[in-house]
Amino acid sequence: MRIAGLQKLTLLDFPGKTAATVFTPGCNFRCPFCHNADLVTGEAGRDGAAADSSALSIDELFAFLGKRQGLLDGVCITGGEPLLQSGIDEFCTRVHELGFAVKLDTNGSFPGRLRALVEEGLVDYVATDVKNAPERYAETVGVPAFDLAPVQESLDFLRSGAVPYEVRTTVVRELHTADDLRALAAWIEGVQAWHLQSFIDADSVLGGEGRFHAWDPDDLRALLPELQAVVPGAQLRGVD
Ligand code: SF4
Repeated sequence: MRIAGLQKLTLLDFPGKTAATVFTPGCNFRCPFCHNADLVTGEAGRDGAAADSSALSIDELFAFLGKRQGLLDGVCITGGEPLLQSGIDEFCTRVHELGFAVKLDTNGSFPGRLRALVEEGLVDYVATDVKNAPERYAETVGVPAFDLAPVQESLDFLRSGAVPYEVRTTVVRELHTADDLRALAAWIEGVQAWHLQSFIDADSVLGGEGRFHAWDPDDLRALLPELQAVVPGAQLRGVD
């Protein structure tokens, strides 16, 4: 298990809980709108992504968590793609032993690893990305000839209700038309909660700053009722 960075406090990432967020390096996707280019390309640890501290050892991390016992409710594990990390099960076990709940962010590529962690009781909440309508998935994740089957399997597993979860989509003008979002809603029908968040440009975007843009918030708000007719738990997040 490698740690690329630590955000010592988040009030937003873990629903209903105060938490710290642990960033892991590396990802099997290359979403061109990704905000964590350094994490994805393995450069994190020098800049540490959106973290308070970068590249720390497991011992340093658990020393920090030990001091936060009773002060924080949970630990979010995000990436990159955390399920690429060997030893994530031991890591979650140690976090639980300190009394923290565990939230896992995943891009859905590793349904077997996700299922194993959930079935072992090592994860209390899962957030998974649903990047786009199936027809535009490969383009959106930056992987030619992308095989959607693992993501579909993760989605089906979460929809089975084995663990509390949410799915989320970063909406990008150049990657999502209204019809794409309608098709995405149809694909994920039955999920508990779907958070649609606006793309925000930054110099850390994988595909380059200035290449992608957010939707007009009014257009997204206008489309939302149509999406909620298919997915009642659809909500906008961070759309101003
Ligand atoms: S957005 Fe997530 S899944 Fe996509 S490249 Fe970045 S870390 Fe990986």
